[in-house]
Amino acid sequence: METLKPYILVRYGELSTKGKNKRRFTQQLAKNIKRQIDGLGDTIVRAGHDYLEIHLDESHISEALERLKSVFGIQSYSPVYKVKKNMAAIEATVLQLLETEDLIGQTFRIATKRADHTFSLDTNAINRKLGQAVVDRFKGLKVQLKKPDITVKVEIREEAALITTKVYLGAGGLPVGTSGRALLMLSGGIDSVVAGYLAMKRGIEIEAVHFASPPYTSPQAVQKAKDLTKILTKFGGDIQFITVPFTKTQEEIKEKIPEGYLMTITRRMMFRVMNDLCAEREALAIVTGESIGQVASQTLISLDVINAMATYPVIRPLITYDKLEIIQLAKDIGSFAISILPYEDCCTVFAPPAPKTKPKSEKCDYYEESIAVSERVDDSVKGILVENIKTVGSQTELEEMDDLL
Ligand code: ATP
Ligand code: MG
Repeated sequence: METLKPYILVRYGELSTKGKNKRRFTQQLAKNIKRQIDGLGDTIVRAGHDYLEIHLDESHISEALERLKSVFGIQSYSPVYKVKKNMAAIEATVLQLLETEDLIGQTFRIATKRADHTFSLDTNAINRKLGQAVVDRFKGLKVQLKKPDITVKVEIREEAALITTKVYLGAGGLPVGTSGRALLMLSGGIDSVVAGYLAMKRGIEIEAVHFASPPYTSPQAVQKAKDLTKILTKFGGDIQFITVPFTKTQEEIKEKIPEGYLMTITRRMMFRVMNDLCAEREALAIVTGESIGQVASQTLISLDVINAMATYPVIRPLITYDKLEIIQLAKDIGSFAISILPYEDCCTVFAPPAPKTKPKSEKCDYYEESIAVSERVDDSVKGILVENIKTVGSQTELEEMDDLL
């Protein structure tokens, strides 16, 4: 009996509906997967029309399965065995595969799909024949059609038969890089990193922009934002981290602007800087962690007055999320523990006790006449520091799906 060599079969997510653009999506996905399994020996990633195949040494398969969990654009994936299209070979493989499973007290079913309709047996006959062979060999293993512990999936294709017993749930979404680039405004808080994750899930490549106001804010606050960026690299590879010097702006605002408008104008200044950075870095949009009603600057009126300064689309993935939902996501992606560390960012340090929840746009215009708006913006843009945050690869847990797709 020949030894079985598995490879990994990846089923596309929403990509299957992308029509003419499909090739661009599958090629990007292949590239992202290649990066994610970097270091696991010689790998071949082949993006076909309906599936993507990953070939690598068997000793690396379980690690690769683990890492695929955080690649967006994947619906599900399986280690599969390809065998000759005859019943003897298929049966032998199914039996051999089950030998590796812990079968005590388990239930199973065979689920056959037949693309090749010229094959000698139909799906029911194949299911019955293989099912019988399994029961004969493994006493105590019982057939159960609904929600069995083990589903052996057999696919009869034109060129061969594919067999698998595992289907892992992919991360969904679209491959990072297929939706263009945006700049994520990343504080050290809970929300913005989650917003970045959700933007990446829709295929957006991000660069992280962090406003720092030393010496009022500490080096640890910047480090915290970098650590959060590192979490995001799990989902899309290296990320450029941009530190924006913001001290002078904040000092001037603090000195000249009435307390109630301090927050509104600070945020308007941030957006002005973001506009220039988008142009400079050829980004198509700004991503923030804002959520309606969470704080004074996030009432609809505040958002409007602040948003008026943005000349690029502002994407707010969390806009309708409850705080508890955001916290759950933060825990899922592993950012929560870092976000709740104490180091405060520039917004917190300069936050007034009672910011306006209904700021007026004319008043903002008026107050801003007292500060050197374009000079401050230019200084910030010229003073940026760009660093590459290297990807950590994936570290999430594998999750098996209840049923096969
Ligand atoms: P977060 O939890 O992301 O800090 P928040 O609820 O504290 O959000 P704000 O402080 O009002 O809200 O900030 C709103 C958004 O502005 C943040 O989600 C983030 O996108 C951006 N932002 C705030 N502070 C900074 C900063 N220092 N650098 C970069 N972006 C920032
Ligand atoms: Mg914050």
